[in-house]
Amino acid sequence: MTFSELKLIQPLLDSLNKSGYKTPSPIQQKAIPLILDGQDIMAAAQTGTGKTAGFSLPILQKLSKGKKPSANVARCLILTPTRELAEQVHQSVQKYAANLLLKSQVVYGGVKINPQMLKLRKGTDVLVATPGRLLDLMEKNAVRFDDLEFLVLDEADRMLDMGFMPSIKRIIGKLPKQRQTLLFSATFSESIKKISQQFLNNPKLIET
Ligand code: AMP
Repeated sequence: MTFSELKLIQPLLDSLNKSGYKTPSPIQQKAIPLILDGQDIMAAAQTGTGKTAGFSLPILQKLSKGKKPSANVARCLILTPTRELAEQVHQSVQKYAANLLLKSQVVYGGVKINPQMLKLRKGTDVLVATPGRLLDLMEKNAVRFDDLEFLVLDEADRMLDMGFMPSIKRIIGKLPKQRQTLLFSATFSESIKKISQQFLNNPKLIET
């Protein structure tokens, strides 16, 4: 199996080549075709399995075919539990998107909010965020999700363990219902299953 057999476009294949990735990992082989096909997915995946590329590559491919974001809008939202993970995911997204004309930003708490408000002004294709800071930014109208196409809940079990459930519910309540939602979690606990029933639309299950 190769990345081009997964029907990824050349700009993405070029960045994968540059990163030295030869073959898609098991989760990538399963997730990429389903996401390209427009399905919601619920995937069991630990870190180190290649899950970030598994969701980023097909999302970037789809975003590259749409129109540019309007002011203060984000087209894809990736929620992560910690600022470290947010930074890491954002760096991966930047690496994979290097040959595409897409903008990405990352926001998290513990740093000044004003520079984050400024960088969201022109709109962004991919926004990586931690839940608390994102809510603050939403309350200040620094970011809008009218045109949101993709929501990714990364390390969903850790977000729940850290007490982010109420924030996540408030955030999702403000998102368009018509969107593609992807949930990644190391474990499928009862509360994760509940979330997916509430927020995902007929998700395909991926277990690697
Ligand atoms: P992740 O599980 O998304 O945090 O990825 C774990 C690590 O594997 C990251 O350092 C990626 O750069 C790397 N990686 C992801 N997909 C592949 C692949 N198909 N081949 C080789 N390395 C990969």
